[in-house]
Amino acid sequence: MTPESAIYVVATPIGNLDDLTLRAIKVLKSVDIIAAEDTRRARHLLQHIGRDKAEVISYFDHVEREKAPQLVDRILENSLSLALISDAGTPCISDPGYHLVREARKRGVAVHPVPGPSALTALVSASGLPSDRLLFVGFLPNKKMALEKEIASWRSLSASIVFYENPRRLKASLTVIHALYPNAELVIGRELTKLHEEILLTDPSGALSWCNNHDFLKGEAVVMVRLGDALVDTQEIKDNKREALILEARDQFNKDATLKDLLGLYRDRGLSRSELYQLLLEAKGFYGNEK
Ligand code: SAM
Repeated sequence: MTPESAIYVVATPIGNLDDLTLRAIKVLKSVDIIAAEDTRRARHLLQHIGRDKAEVISYFDHVEREKAPQLVDRILENSLSLALISDAGTPCISDPGYHLVREARKRGVAVHPVPGPSALTALVSASGLPSDRLLFVGFLPNKKMALEKEIASWRSLSASIVFYENPRRLKASLTVIHALYPNAELVIGRELTKLHEEILLTDPSGALSWCNNHDFLKGEAVVMVRLGDALVDTQEIKDNKREALILEARDQFNKDATLKDLLGLYRDRGLSRSELYQLLLEAKGFYGNEK
């Protein structure tokens, strides 16, 4: 039976295909159009539920603004039903969909959620951290300064904070969290619902050691942080930042960076040239690097 003309925002598995809900299957089997972030992945999912023939159209970040009004036109003109899916998890949660849903709402097209998996709720539910107050911040900024600014802005929050992270960048975020909130508790969820799922409740220094022992090019990660009551004073923050930078510099020396390289690389870290020089000597001497 064809469902009511509307947009259905359908959550799909974040790893384990068994997590597709019965309602999601029903909707995906019956709608007129499926708008998907990646049409190949969508066809694979549709095959899995036995829908071989379906109109699957591509709907991803860069075409959102342009395609949203066109899709709503089509829905209105032909009384169509459309399911929106992303690569994994819930659309609109750090995934495309916002423009389509907003356009639909503005123009009187019904939008129904078909809830299900999301890395956000999956981690929160299994974290063991307080979840009475939550702040989800999506992906953290890439640039060092912006990253530090964002993480520093959490200072006065009495909530648990959740963010998504590209595994290759996890260490950078954890280094800043370690510098600013050494007493925090955090939970890292990696490969959730998949064969090699890992959920670790630890503190920032434990998280950094864990990170150093992992092959982060594989797997996806989501992190939940509880800052705790014991925020550190300015001197402690400085000391922790210094310690984190020494760790970072040590890594760089081990990758054959020279003192000169690192003087340039870290020139915007808020240290004078002579302070930075001292710090680098300390990092270098510690590891007996002769360069
Ligand atoms: N809309 C999705 C959701 O509801 O979870 C999130 C999409 S976002 C583009 C992708 C990010 O979600 C990944 O980089 C990772 O941070 C997180 N993620 C997705 N699947 C995951 C999994 N199985 N385990 C851990 N994190 C995951």
